[in-house]
Order: sequence, then structure tokens, then C-alpha cells
Amino acid sequence: MKKFLVLVLALAMVLSLAACGAKQPAEPAAPAEGPAANPKIGVTIYKFDDNFMSFVRRAIETGAKDKADLVLNDSQNNQATQNEQVDMMISKGVKSLAINLVDPQAAPTIIEKAKAAGLPVIFFNKEPDASALASYDKAWYVGTTSSESGVMQGKIVADSWKANPAWDKNKDGKIQYVLLKGEPGHPDAEARTKFVIDEVKNAGIEVEELELQTGMWDSVKGKELVDAWLAKHGDKIEYVIANNDAMALGAVSSLQANGYFTGDKFMPVVGVDAIPDALEQVKAGTMVGTVLNDAKNQGGATLELALNAANGKDPLEGTQWTLDDKKAVRVPYVGITKDNLAVAEEAYK
Ligand code: BGC
Ligand code: CA
Repeated sequence: MKKFLVLVLALAMVLSLAACGAKQPAEPAAPAEGPAANPKIGVTIYKFDDNFMSFVRRAIETGAKDKADLVLNDSQNNQATQNEQVDMMISKGVKSLAINLVDPQAAPTIIEKAKAAGLPVIFFNKEPDASALASYDKAWYVGTTSSESGVMQGKIVADSWKANPAWDKNKDGKIQYVLLKGEPGHPDAEARTKFVIDEVKNAGIEVEELELQTGMWDSVKGKELVDAWLAKHGDKIEYVIANNDAMALGAVSSLQANGYFTGDKFMPVVGVDAIPDALEQVKAGTMVGTVLNDAKNQGGATLELALNAANGKDPLEGTQWTLDDKKAVRVPYVGITKDNLAVAEEAYK
């Protein structure tokens, strides 16, 4: 009996060992090696309710098609909201960040978060301080050379003024202008405001500033300001200069409501961006010109860099872009008047 038990036990052991050797429980089958899932890219827009940014956003979405899963956020013009969105996107596992800051001074806060998570970050449209970009090897910027837009706008003002002596209504040889400024502290707003006037002066034209206030890039605010300025100065105003087209369009509707652009009542207005609504005005002659701020290429470049970075590649790989010494891709501006409208139309298709 004892012998038999030993035998049974031995047999059982041999069997179980054999079972082990022959039939290891199979490893869970590896998922079929289909195409890798698209990387998640976290994007914030400082506010969706910005005319120009809606075109940049569209270009980002177009670029991401079939290549990346965007986690897209409207920061609603609130930096605290944007900071929370960045935390949320990091916890969702995004592989890179594309950030249109609310407050250009907030770059270090975002960089700190990206750094802690080891994520690359592409800032766009609102340029961070060079020191912020330099503080993190995985931070880059996509935008423009802000001053260039001011210089080009100034050239349009100077050329049009020289070509139309009748615009000097009080015949004092100077341009009495009002200026609608973008968001104070925004590198584009600061540079445009300075360089447009410098350029006009460089062209040998004297100027007198009647009003300069911020319309916060916004059409409605632009209209309200011009309403008030027309009530105060009337025809003493000889030129309306706007840091962007949204405010220029607000100015045009104020002027129209005040009887301009009918008969010989005229006021020259210039903007920046070359958004389709403004191009219509240039075509109609209610705006003298604008400066193409290339939304398509800025959005496209932002996505290309963010996608490369998400895939662990050099951010410029396979792109047409180059970086300057501040690690910035700078898309050129183009001055736009009736003569070259097609250039701008193409960029907003
Ligand atoms: C554009 C403005 C826009 C702003 C947003 C500027 O480059 O010209 O139209 O409101 O960016 O940051
Ligand atoms: Ca004058």
C-alpha cells in the first residue's frame, strides 16, 4: 500500500512537471502589429473667440488629420484656466504640447510643467521671452518677427499718404492719426505700434497722434473706440491705424455708421492679418491695405513641430522650416493692398 502511494505521488509529480514543460500557460497574445496609434498632442488656444486664431486653429486641425489626435482647449483668455488644461492634458498622456499662451509672461509656468513631465512644448503666436525658451531644450516657438508687420504697415501708410495729397484734410503736411492697439504686453501689439509710426517717419512724413488706446484685438471694442474718437475729433482724424484686422473692421463699421465711404467722405484705414473679411474691405476700397499674417503656415508649422517632437524626432525633420538663434520658426509677413490681394486669399483658403 505504502509503495503504491509513493508510486502514485511520483507519477503525479512527473505528470505535473511534464505538464509544466510541455504546456506553459501561453503568454497573452501580442496585439496584432497594426499601424501605431496616432500620438496625442495637447493644444491650447488663448481664446477661441479670436478671429485670427480661429484660422490658426483650423490650420492645426488640418495638419493633424490622420497624423495626430488633438486634445484641443479654449483657454477662454484666462491663464489659470490654461494652466489647469495643461495639467489635464499631461495626465491624459499627450506626447507634446502646442501652447498659445494667454499671458506671454506665463511661459516659465508652462515650461516647468512640461519639463516635469519630460514633454516637448511648442509655443505659438504669443512669443515668450527669449530667456524662457532658452531655459528648456525641448521648448520652441512658431510665429513671426513682430516688428516686420509694423514696418510693412508703415510702408502702406506712407505710400498711400504720398499718393493721395487730399487725405491731408487740414493741409498741415502731417498725418493726424488714431491708433487701435492690440493687447498691451503682447509682443505683436507692442512692436506694431512702435514700428508702424517709425516707418512713416522714416519715409519723411510728420505725424501727430490724436488717440492711442487698446481695443484688445477685438472688433466690437475697435468700433466703440472709433465711435468715441469720431464724436470727439470728427474730420480732424486723417488716418486710422489698427494693430489687427478685427479692430480695423470695427473701425470701418463705425466710419460707415458715421457717413464715411459715401460720396467723397473718406477715411484711410489699415490693419494686419489679411483675414478674408478684411480682404473684402480692401477690395471694396474701405481699407487701404493690411499685412498678411500667415495663419495657414503658422498653424501648419506649429503642428509639424509638435508632431515631430511627439514622435521623438528633431522638430524640423521633413519640414521647410528653420530655427533662428532663439529657437523660433518665423513665418514671413507680406504687405497687402489691392494690387496683390491674391497672395493673401491663397493663405486663408
Ligand atoms: C494677430 C491678432 C490676434 C493675436 C492673438 C496677432 O498676431 O494679428 O489678430 O488677435 O495675434 O494673439
Ligand atoms: Ca494733416
